Amino acid sequence: RAKEHGRNSFKVFHSGMNIQSYRSFQLQNDLRKALERNEFKLVYQPRIHIGSSKITSAEALIRWDHPNWGMILPSEFIPLAEESNLIVEIGKWVLAEACRQNKAWQEAGLEPIRIAVNFSSQQFLQKDLIETISSILTDTGTAPGMIEIEITESVIFKNELAMTQTLKKLRNMGIYLSMDDFGMGYSSLKYLRQFPVHSLKIDKSFIQDLSSRSPESLSLVSAIVSLAHSLKLSVVAEGVETEEQLNQLRDLDCEEFQGYYFSPPVSANEFEDFLFKSQDKAVETNIKPIAYK
Ligand code: C2E
Ligand code: MG
Ligand code: MG
Ligand code: MG
Repeated sequence: RAKEHGRNSFKVFHSGMNIQSYRSFQLQNDLRKALERNEFKLVYQPRIHIGSSKITSAEALIRWDHPNWGMILPSEFIPLAEESNLIVEIGKWVLAEACRQNKAWQEAGLEPIRIAVNFSSQQFLQKDLIETISSILTDTGTAPGMIEIEITESVIFKNELAMTQTLKKLRNMGIYLSMDDFGMGYSSLKYLRQFPVHSLKIDKSFIQDLSSRSPESLSLVSAIVSLAHSLKLSVVAEGVETEEQLNQLRDLDCEEFQGYYFSPPVSANEFEDFLFKSQDKAVETNIKPIAYK
């Protein structure tokens, strides 16, 4: 019988499961072994400064190379990892791997760039979160300013008081913070200004709507950009797929973008090639941290 709850519960296969539930049953069980078997990897999507067309940073995105099912996307296994709380250990691996890779790029002679990693809400519930992050940075010889943590607005707003405190600590360490998938959750404008994030990432659904050329979708993106700027936050557009979308974002003074128009997420090796090509040395961003009290 399948037990649904409990962090160490184990799901047992029974006949009558269809192929889809068999798959998630197997994934859920295999997730426990995936870390030690080294089946996860990170892919990297460049983030581009719209004004200078330079790569400012990359977002690290997890992939699972499953022995039976092949490459599995995070939308399928992250929810399973969150259910079983394995996300806490996986999240540590993601941060450490991103730091290790970034260090390796620097040792290969590249200018340092910032790497963004995604965090789930459970990671913020860990009492030793700050210590864990600090020791990963120390162990990998990573400066805090080389790391950005992306948190979705729904996670931040779930527990806004505690989150504000934690985010302030991270920011004061020198880590960059961004609010991911902005516009999809239930951001309260009242609280938005108290979260010490550096940037808002506009959810890709808003960017895709720009292609409909409806005045409403343009107004919506324009309003988000203005809101961010009035709060002294920089804006990153996600999911930019066309030149037209990019031009619209440039007109709105959006600072940065990610998307298939420039590149999908790529392997560490391919990203390294991008960096070697794009770095005729400087990778400064225009975005300067603002002091938070
Ligand atoms: P996200 O953080 O919002 O990441 C952006 C997603 O949009 C990525 O999907 C990326 O591949 C995709 N994307 C980028 N450019 C385009 C585009 O132009 N068009 C379209 N249609 N999509 C684009 P991916 O890699 O499948 O990741 C999905 C989500 O899984 C992420 O959304 C994030 O919420 C979560 N995720 C990924 N890696 C991790 C991780 O290490 N830890 C945690 N907790 N969550 C992760
Ligand atoms: Mg993200
Ligand atoms: Mg996003
Ligand atoms: Mg997302």
